[in-house]
Amino acid sequence: MKFVICTACGKSVPAESVNDQFPDAGLVLPYEEFGYYGGFTDIEFGFFDSKNYPKTWLMCHDCVVKLFTVFPLLGKTLTRGTHPCDNEKPCCEWAWRPTENFGKYTKDSDGALIPAPGPHYQIVQDGQWVDAFD
Ligand SMILES: [Zn+2]
Ligand SMILES: [Zn+2]
Repeated sequence: MKFVICTACGKSVPAESVNDQFPDAGLVLPYEEFGYYGGFTDIEFGFFDSKNYPKTWLMCHDCVVKLFTVFPLLGKTLTRGTHPCDNEKPCCEWAWRPTENFGKYTKDSDGALIPAPGPHYQIVQDGQWVDAFD
């Protein structure tokens, strides 16, 4: 299993879902694009620690949840069900999990393939899994 270090908390976290370089269910923040003239940091004048200068911040799942807990309006910019979770108790309010209908199809009266009836996945509401209909 491949691991990467979370830039925010320093923990080693699994990184298997995308190219073995990003934290599973995490975020990648392109730190260079945060710096601008007149901003908190100015990339042109190099206000970055040259030894600890990452091109990106890699944030593990738990740090992303902390970020959106501290700044709930940022979290509200996300739709529900952004990443999968197999746990009986959802890992966070943005998780989703498949139901037994997930990926199943049936044929309508004309013989065309249509999604099987019923919910195909669940999202989180008030800390509990609920069926999603869309
Ligand atoms: Zn972290
Ligand atoms: Zn989660």
